[in-house]
Amino acid sequence: MKFFESIAKQVFNQEGINILEGHVAYSPEEAMEISSEMGVPVAIKAQVLTGGRGKAGGVKFAKNPGEAFKVADDVLKLEIKGEKVKHILIEERADIINEFFISVSIDRAKRRPVIMASSEGGIEIENLAKTNPEKIIRYYPNPLIEFLPYEAREIARKMGVESSLISAMGDVIWKLYNVFVKYDADTAEINPLVLTSDGLIAADAKLVIDNDSLYRHQDLVNLLHYKKKAVDFVKLDGDIAVIGNGAGLTLTAMDMIKLNGGKPATFLDIGGGASDQIINQALNIVLNYDPVKVVFLNVLGGITKADDVARGVIKALDDNERKVGIVIRLTGTNEEEGQKLLEEAGIPYEVSMEKAAKKAVELCDSLK
Ligand code: GDP
Ligand code: MN
Repeated sequence: MKFFESIAKQVFNQEGINILEGHVAYSPEEAMEISSEMGVPVAIKAQVLTGGRGKAGGVKFAKNPGEAFKVADDVLKLEIKGEKVKHILIEERADIINEFFISVSIDRAKRRPVIMASSEGGIEIENLAKTNPEKIIRYYPNPLIEFLPYEAREIARKMGVESSLISAMGDVIWKLYNVFVKYDADTAEINPLVLTSDGLIAADAKLVIDNDSLYRHQDLVNLLHYKKKAVDFVKLDGDIAVIGNGAGLTLTAMDMIKLNGGKPATFLDIGGGASDQIINQALNIVLNYDPVKVVFLNVLGGITKADDVARGVIKALDDNERKVGIVIRLTGTNEEEGQKLLEEAGIPYEVSMEKAAKKAVELCDSLK
C-alpha cells in the first residue's frame, strides 16, 4: 500500500525526521484559508500516488492567499498519469540550499534491504541513475542485526557531504532506515531531503508498506482516515442526524429511519477504521447543525472498535454544550467493552439496528 506524501511525512516526523508545516486541502477555498492562516509563501503540492509529479506541474508555489486560491484551483484540476488530483498539500515554502536523495528499499536480486543516497537529489534522480550511477551510493545493511549510527554516517561521508553536515545527514539516514524496519516498508524515501538554514528537512516523502503487514500497523490506517477530515457529510432536510461507519451502513440507517416515519438531517459516513477522534469530530459536526434533534449512530465494529466509538461519543457529549437525544446501535469488535462504557455514562444503546432506528424516531417525536 502506497501512502500519500502528507501521510508519509507525518509518519517520518513521528520518527524524528524534520518536515515543513503543512495542511491538506480539498478545495481552492480551503487552500486560501490555510495559506492565510499560515501567513507565509507556500508550496502547493498535488497529492497523488504516482511519481514525477513535479515534472507534470503538480508542485507549484504561491506568495499570498489570493495566489494560493488560483494555484490550488489549477492543481486540483490536474490529472497526473491518469490519476485525478483530489487533494493538495499546502506547505510552507522552503528556501533550499541543496537537495539530497535518500531511500531504503528492497533489492530483489540480492534479497536484502538497500540504502541508496546521493548529494544530487531532486526531480532528476532517475536520469542521474542512468547517466552517473556512481553518484548514487548503495549500502546493504545486515537486516539481521541492528543498523548502527556510525554506518549511517559512513554513507553520509560517501555521499560527499560537507563535514559539518555528516552527523545530521547520518541521523536522517539512520531514522529513515528505522522507519523502513518499523513499518515493514517496501520503500521509504525522501527526495529531495533539503538543506535549509533550519537544517535538513524532508521536502517530499514516499512510503510503501507491504500489504501483508498492514494488520500490524493500525496506527497508519487510522492516520489515513483521520486525514480525510470529517469525511462524507451531506445535509438533508430532516431532524435526525444519521452517522454510520461505511456508506452502505449509513444508507441503510437512513432507510430505517425513513421506514419508521423519521426524517434524516444528515448523511455522515465516518468510514471504516474510524478512531475515537473521528467519532468525536463527526458528533461535533452534527451537534453544531441546528436542525438536529436526535443523533442516530449506527456502528458495526469491524476495523472500527466499539470501545473506541464509545469513548468518542462520551467525549463529544461531554465537550458539547448542546444537548440532543442520542441513540446508538453498537455491535462488533470489542462490543462488551464499548457497551459497558456507554452504560456507565448513561448513554442508551441497542444491538439491533431495527430497534435502534425505531427508538431514534420515537425519541425525536417525543421532543416535538
Ligand atoms: P515530485 O516531483 O513528485 O518528486 O515532487 P517533490 O515534492 O519532490 O518536488 C519537486 C521539486 O520541487 C523538488 O525537487 C524541489 O526542487 C521543488 N520543491 C518542492 N517543495 C519545495 C519547497 O518547499 N521549496 C522550494 N523552493 N522548492 C520545492
Ligand atoms: Mn520528490
